[in-house]
Amino acid sequence: MASGGERPFRVTRRDFLRALAGGAASLAAGVQLPRELLRFAFLQPVQPGLNPLKEYPNRGWEKVYRDLYTPDYTYHYLCAPNDTHGCLLKANVKNGVVVYADPSFGYGKATDPYGNQASARWDPRVCISGLAYVRRFYSDRRVKGAFVRLGFKRWAEAGFPRDPATGRPPEQFFSGRGKEEFVQVSYEEAYRLVARALVDIARTYSGREGEERLRRQGYDEAMVEAVHSIGTQTIKARGGMPLLGPIRIGGLYRFMNMLALLDAHVRGVGPEGAVGGRHWDSYSWHTDLPPGHPMVSGQQTLDFDLYTAENARLITLWGMNWIATKMPDGHWLTEAKLHGARVVTIAPEYQSSSSKADEVIVIRPGSDAHFALGLAHVIVRDRLYDEAFVKSFTDLPLLVRMDNLRRLQARDVIAGYRPAELRNGTRVIRDGERPPVPAQQDAQLVPESLRAEWDDYMVWDLRSGGPRPVSRDLVGRHFQEAGIEPALEGEFEVSLVDGRRVKVRPAFDLVKQYLMDSCSPEQISKVTWAPVEAIENLAREIAANKTRTLFVEGMGPNHFFNNDCKDRAIILVAALTNNVGHFGGTVGSYAGNYRLAFFSGFGQYGTEDPFDIELDPSRPARTRKTYKAESAHYYNYGDRPLRVGNKVFTGRTHMPTPTKAVLWANSNSIL
Ligand code: SF4
Repeated sequence: MASGGERPFRVTRRDFLRALAGGAASLAAGVQLPRELLRFAFLQPVQPGLNPLKEYPNRGWEKVYRDLYTPDYTYHYLCAPNDTHGCLLKANVKNGVVVYADPSFGYGKATDPYGNQASARWDPRVCISGLAYVRRFYSDRRVKGAFVRLGFKRWAEAGFPRDPATGRPPEQFFSGRGKEEFVQVSYEEAYRLVARALVDIARTYSGREGEERLRRQGYDEAMVEAVHSIGTQTIKARGGMPLLGPIRIGGLYRFMNMLALLDAHVRGVGPEGAVGGRHWDSYSWHTDLPPGHPMVSGQQTLDFDLYTAENARLITLWGMNWIATKMPDGHWLTEAKLHGARVVTIAPEYQSSSSKADEVIVIRPGSDAHFALGLAHVIVRDRLYDEAFVKSFTDLPLLVRMDNLRRLQARDVIAGYRPAELRNGTRVIRDGERPPVPAQQDAQLVPESLRAEWDDYMVWDLRSGGPRPVSRDLVGRHFQEAGIEPALEGEFEVSLVDGRRVKVRPAFDLVKQYLMDSCSPEQISKVTWAPVEAIENLAREIAANKTRTLFVEGMGPNHFFNNDCKDRAIILVAALTNNVGHFGGTVGSYAGNYRLAFFSGFGQYGTEDPFDIELDPSRPARTRKTYKAESAHYYNYGDRPLRVGNKVFTGRTHMPTPTKAVLWANSNSIL
């Protein structure tokens, strides 16, 4: 509005065209242009003799353009979309609108609790997607508000009618999925609809009758039994990568825990007997988990920050398209190349990272494990492995019994053997003892029954000419100090405590036989389609770069059925060549940042006892986990367990329940 009671200044297209016909004077008269404009203040006559190369009058107008990008204020935020790079960005706000985002350029100022300062080399940390989120945020295509499918709304308004025998809703309310329009409702209405539906589902599938309904719907009997007549157990949630937003996303855990309140209400049980919903997995479901890593190491994932590329001389990318999928970390790869590192991509496609690589090895999809075994063949065949490392840091010298193909245990050979006390990074806890929360665990915790089951293994000591026990404490320096010289090859005979004599061979010897029999470069080339020359050359290159070869694994190959073999074969190559545990020389599968350590209160938030909420913020919450964990894989597999004929391969602890409601947040990779 114009001030001082003047009429607002508006020129319609029609006014403008009319004025053009009559000239500027009639334009002014017709539309009452403001006096300021009519003064033509910016149209002063040019001074005669002015040299525009030396001076320029009245440059004030340029300020308008300069100020276009001058923010009124800025603020920092953590970019946390559905990826896990967690870049700290700066929003630039003008007239209340974020006009653009910037890298924060603040990483170099960060210090850890001990005062160590980070390097500014983590800056600039950003990607083009993160920068473009500002546009998406204000886009007219952004969904704002609550929407509900029309058929579902009608089903709710009709009072959730169902077939009394099966519990199935009438077809007409659900046949429109994927075709019907969504109507906007208020948030209050949306909450009401969801809450009423969950109550109805819990009622329908609780008790004996609920169980029968699931049976009549044709669910696997093992799944029906897993419900235990508790309707809330058919309600699932998935907070994808919950630590990107412990409250925003992780709230679904809390909600599943709180469904115990609903169960108590529906089944009329007390707090002790009430059970919540089920929570689907995140990391393993979207295949960030490389299955071979826990199998080999006991850790969820072997990992490194991608900066460590700058310490490597050889960087091998296994199904990992670094340039495209690790955008804020792309510069580490470029800089590593500037330092002289060679980059090799091993993938089924010529990927964007291949265009930056020194060597591109295209293999058949799913044949990564075979390719790695071909490398291992060359390394063992030509004795290119690091013998000292293999002997002191790996389990390859451990003896395997030829009568049952199990590892030889010390108690097999030494009567009354007592396993060594473990002190090297391991702590044995009593069975049933509650371990501290992960942030407070200072060692690997091993229950005493598991320790007893392990016993100690044995190697063939060339010095003493007989078997010697080795505990898991004896790694690296500790092994070398024990004065043992283990055999890697050969067949030996040991006497068991029951008097029998059995043949034993080091694991290395067995692996060698397998590699020599089945994994020659020619054989592997047939399976992988990689040229023999590529297998021979890369094996030599890796062996020549002990402690400096990086094995960077992508998450895509984790989709294959043989995914654990891929990890185990790659780790074998790394172990043979002393490329485990070094900056720039190790195996890793970096899916993103893990922030669990920063949210140690998450357990309390997610599993606070819903019947006993703590209202005093200065006191810790009392926890009781009422929800159960389940893998989303079973739902993706048609909401069924892995059953072949009469044999159910899914164990009781992993048995899914029928899925009747799904809530999820931050997950666009579900189903
Ligand atoms: S990589 Fe891009 S999208 Fe992901 S957090 Fe960083 S800026 Fe945001």
